[in-house]
Amino acid sequence: MEQHPSYLMGFDLGGTKMLCGVLNSSYEIVSTTKKKTGDASRSEETFERIVACVQAALDDAGVAASEVVALGVAAPGPIDLRTGTLLETPNLGFQQFPLAERLSREVGIDVRVENDVNAGLYGEYVKGAAGRYRHVLGLFPGTGVGGAIVIDGKLYRGAQGGAGEIGHMIMQLDGRLCGCGQYGCLEAMVSRGAMAREAALLVTNGKAPTIAEKAGTDVSKMRAGVFKKAIDAGDTEVARLVDRAADILGIGMANCVNIFNPEAIVVGGGLVEKLGSSYLDRAAASMRSHAMSHLAAGVEIIAATLGDDAAVVGAAAVAHEHVRESRGGGR
Ligand SMILES: [Zn+2]
Repeated sequence: MEQHPSYLMGFDLGGTKMLCGVLNSSYEIVSTTKKKTGDASRSEETFERIVACVQAALDDAGVAASEVVALGVAAPGPIDLRTGTLLETPNLGFQQFPLAERLSREVGIDVRVENDVNAGLYGEYVKGAAGRYRHVLGLFPGTGVGGAIVIDGKLYRGAQGGAGEIGHMIMQLDGRLCGCGQYGCLEAMVSRGAMAREAALLVTNGKAPTIAEKAGTDVSKMRAGVFKKAIDAGDTEVARLVDRAADILGIGMANCVNIFNPEAIVVGGGLVEKLGSSYLDRAAASMRSHAMSHLAAGVEIIAATLGDDAAVVGAAAVAHEHVRESRGGGR
């Protein structure tokens, strides 16, 4: 039997599902447990589900709370990372909710909360696609466009923990309205939501027969897989729309390459998983033709490899490092 606690836990708190993993000290997942987030309008109900999911994960792995060094929670922002308080997450019902403190008390494990996109990139850094690099950016085009930054092997969080909003880089003056309230953000041009709104117009004009058949004009049904099917079926206007999104994503990457001089950009999320290398290669080519050439030459554009596990692994690693730093007497 182990004399010292040697396991870690990572928890991905999503709007529709929560995923909790138990990991060994090499950040390998021992087991994962999934639950629906459920009706998340009431914070106490959501919190009870989080606690139940952590306890179920411990049971599934056959591990006691006393054997766990730390639990990292990946949550949507904004978050006070210092105290682990969820400041305002309306779709989970949380407002100024001291998640780290409450959860730590409930399950008896040190808890650290991290922004979910940061956790996703950090997972790819410690155990996934980006392990060979020290300077890495993450871009996750999906419902929105998540971004995160690792500089010299460390997550870069900025003054208030809010760094990495690459999706809200403004690409076009007077462009399309973004969910953040600004116009012309990268996210408003290349996210799946943005592509779906354009595809709905094509459907209305009779130019996207496969999407018409699979989703009609219902943008919520236009998942990444629907775009893939339309392209495979030869819907040329849809292929053009997706190519254009990849080209613009590449210009966003080029701006980041010029600012951060990274070695790699990890791209993850549903669009990359479904559309694959044609989408990624096109974005990479666009990046190379728009970034400063000596910087572009040194950048790899790579697909994320951990999928849904990335945030679980990254959150566990963040929590582990925090415990080690605080025990080491650092600030
Ligand atoms: Zn925006």
